[in-house]
Amino acid sequence: MNLRRLPLDKHKGLSAYKLYSSKLQIQAHDCFHRSSTCVNGHSNWIILNPSGLLKGQGFFVAVSVEKGGNLADFGGKDLVWPSPSDEIPFWKKEFPSWDVSPKVPIEVNKDNEFMHIIHVTAELAPIAKVGGLGDVVTGLARACLSRGHRVGVMLPFYECILKEQINDLTLITSYDSYHDGIWIPTNAYCGVVSGVTIILIEPSNQFFKGQSVYGGSYNELEAYLFFSRACLEWMQVTGTQPDIIHVHEWQTGALSLLYWDMYHYLSLKKPRIVLTIHNMEHFGECSKEQLSKCGLEGSVYASIDRAVDDRTVNHNPERLSLLKGGIVYSNAVVTVSPTYLKETLCSGWLSSTLIRNRDKYIGILNGIDTTIWNPASDVFLPAKFHAQNFEGKKLCKYYVQRGLGLATDDHVADMTLKVPLVVCITRLVAQKGLHLIIQAMKHVEKLGGQMIVLGKSTDGEVEREFEGLANLHNQGRSIRILLIYSEELSHILYAAADMVLVPSMYEPCGLAQMIGMRYGAIPVVRKTGGLADTVFDLDDQPNHEMANGFVFEGIDEVSLNWAMDRAFAYFRDKPDKWNRIVKKVMEIDNSWNNTAGKYVEVYDSVRTRW
Ligand code: ADP
Repeated sequence: MNLRRLPLDKHKGLSAYKLYSSKLQIQAHDCFHRSSTCVNGHSNWIILNPSGLLKGQGFFVAVSVEKGGNLADFGGKDLVWPSPSDEIPFWKKEFPSWDVSPKVPIEVNKDNEFMHIIHVTAELAPIAKVGGLGDVVTGLARACLSRGHRVGVMLPFYECILKEQINDLTLITSYDSYHDGIWIPTNAYCGVVSGVTIILIEPSNQFFKGQSVYGGSYNELEAYLFFSRACLEWMQVTGTQPDIIHVHEWQTGALSLLYWDMYHYLSLKKPRIVLTIHNMEHFGECSKEQLSKCGLEGSVYASIDRAVDDRTVNHNPERLSLLKGGIVYSNAVVTVSPTYLKETLCSGWLSSTLIRNRDKYIGILNGIDTTIWNPASDVFLPAKFHAQNFEGKKLCKYYVQRGLGLATDDHVADMTLKVPLVVCITRLVAQKGLHLIIQAMKHVEKLGGQMIVLGKSTDGEVEREFEGLANLHNQGRSIRILLIYSEELSHILYAAADMVLVPSMYEPCGLAQMIGMRYGAIPVVRKTGGLADTVFDLDDQPNHEMANGFVFEGIDEVSLNWAMDRAFAYFRDKPDKWNRIVKKVMEIDNSWNNTAGKYVEVYDSVRTRW
């Protein structure tokens, strides 16, 4: 089925589509359920309401497509099929809106007591996103807004942020914030992104300049120390006293120290601090002298019960960890899945600190924003679909296969669609199981499937290795390696994929498997961290109710191959069962509706009541 969205959306809450298909059958029932009508071989204007049911004037319509249709014919009339030789690649063309969801859903039950929450973060999707951190802050902020809370997000005004992506951008405060013996003139801007109010902190020095969120030519650690203090300074200058300051990762760990040892003695009395650890591998290594640059006395924190890196005790010099300081000084510490919580209590040098702080350490599984990640309304997709009818997914798959040269123009769509398509969308870092990603490409090719890797690396050696692989494979008909970051392409690939591969060595939570499922891609994952909490093996009989993917445990090729073999066998030999699983995974609720409430409970348990 090919549904083309109309440029004008006249009906509030309804989307208008033009529908083309020679194989299409429409069954229409009027409001009294009196009759049904069949239309064949016509072009019709139809309206799709948010629940995915088709609605015509006076009719509720269910659409089905005859089996055996050739998708190449379906969109032929209107959809322009992409090709690898296109001057503008299909994921860079103009889309109706860059902000996938400018409004926050309102039809959510409100909490009884409202709080004011300010997130302080290094990333925010989509304007400053590198990985899951950006998605999580945007998703959680929107979920809490929907529940009736007042939510703001503070982040650095990176030079690379595109101003046109921010609604109502306005300079609101010019003030000075301390760094290394001087007060730096600083601007705070207010704006709105995906329905969330943001405050961007822009110092007048070189901090946060450059073409990417991380890796500029300034000292990153010092820049985030400055940012942590500048956020508190802004709250003090403007008299802003939220109930909760929610900090994320090592970058904002020093804010807890600054709050309790400085600003709480000045004018900020009300806020309490919640820290979320998204990945314990990055712990913000810092010297005492560097910490002193934000105005604290660095040596005060060089003890086991404060911020010293336990591994460096009695070394010369000892080092500090901003993440450890954050754990000690925050009122509550959250990590992003129950299994990662257990893993971090058992291994890693921070485990002793976490054990000492066990009573305030909690595991809350991340959610995904199901309005932003919604295949039924995603502006980047060539065809929309949902769990009740995912014919559009086939069109997305064929669209990608054509666009990346994985199908010849004269290939029949039906044949091409029978080739299983695996996608892997990830930062290319060791944590993500690079050797298994490479092995998967070999194995998928051997099994006669297709695989697309969308990944970005900041490590020159990894970049070169994958560039070599791209040169080797990108001309053939099985593998595509795209070494870029593209939000648009990621949406299209999730929609196109039959399987989403996440073979991580460790994974605090992982969003790729949840997003993949939302778009009907069956996850193939290694059993670790949040992957173990969200994906359950289809061949695990006792756990049949939960079963939704393919899971392997080892870090070797044999373990991965075994999972891929099983996934391919299901896809090829049991198509009806496969379709049932696709429907099942699309219906799994991994939304923030499920887990934001747990954050609200944490906020509520630490906030002051006056
Ligand atoms: P991590 O936070 O460790 O990077 P997650 O799975 O939690 O991993 O989240 C990754 C997020 O970043 C997902 O939204 C994924 O789609 C996105 N992503 C990763 N790499 C890319 C890329 N090259 N282009 C676009 N999006 C990407």
